[in-house]
Amino acid sequence: MIRLAIQKSGRLSEASSQLIKDCGINIVNGKGKLKATASNFPLEILFLRDDDIPGYVADGVADLGIVGENVVAEKAKDIHIVHRLGFSKCRLSLAIPKADTYNSIADLEGKHIATSYPNILGDYLKEQKVNANIHEISGSVEVAPSIGLANAVCDIVSSGSTLFTNGLKEVEVIFRSEAVMIGSPEVNAEQQKIIEKLLFRIQSLQRAKNNKYILLNAPKDQLDAIIELLPGMRSPTILPLAEDGWYSVHSVINENDFWDKIESIKEAGAQGILVVPIEKMIL
Ligand code: ATP
Ligand code: ZN
Repeated sequence: MIRLAIQKSGRLSEASSQLIKDCGINIVNGKGKLKATASNFPLEILFLRDDDIPGYVADGVADLGIVGENVVAEKAKDIHIVHRLGFSKCRLSLAIPKADTYNSIADLEGKHIATSYPNILGDYLKEQKVNANIHEISGSVEVAPSIGLANAVCDIVSSGSTLFTNGLKEVEVIFRSEAVMIGSPEVNAEQQKIIEKLLFRIQSLQRAKNNKYILLNAPKDQLDAIIELLPGMRSPTILPLAEDGWYSVHSVINENDFWDKIESIKEAGAQGILVVPIEKMIL
């Protein structure tokens, strides 16, 4: 049995529960509870405040946890990142009132900065050799300059719209974050096996998300040129069509170079191109 801690309610909650569900793990009675058990996997879920998750994992109360990397860095506990999950991407940035001028980080010398991340900010300022006064506040950091509490803020940003509506501008990105799976340093061999089984499923899902299944029709004389453009998992599947001189080609292509590939495949003479999502991808 392993215990996985996820955020009880917040920005990570839904994606964390969905990930477990997509792994084919069925959680009974999860809603509103502190703890839930999976019916078809040796897993218990603990629903906690995200800030508490690194501590619980470090203490061994939970074996695994899903949190933002920003929280892991801030808490600096004895835990390790087991796997990067790719969701809840955001950055921790310094922002100042829109009207203020900014040339470099040296402009913050002697200033007051409000943040919920005093450790990450402190390390950054030390590295930049800037002396500033850090004011730790736990929420609504973005209003600090307008109420005269600070000259600048260091806060989580994704689109920047919260900063903008509070009359602030982003001037430095000091940390980039995404949701990560963290693990306790002390798990036994049996638990390690369960963790690997879970990670295997997560990796299959992530791979599937990053790839697309592609089907297309190709004339015989262009077949080699088109195959050349399609790496596939091993090599593409080629099936003859009912119409003489034409083939159906099936392959897998990466999401990243998807549009470039499609263009060159089309130029090479492919027709009737179909692209379909992949649910799971096992190598
Ligand atoms: P809790 O009540 O559990 O302490 P919280 O208010 O500290 O919750 P949330 O706002 O739910 O935390 O954010 C959780 C995590 O989601 C953050 O630590 C960060 O990694 C990520 N995150 C925060 N804001 C954003 C955003 N705007 N876009 C994407 N990810 C974000
Ligand atoms: Zn929190």
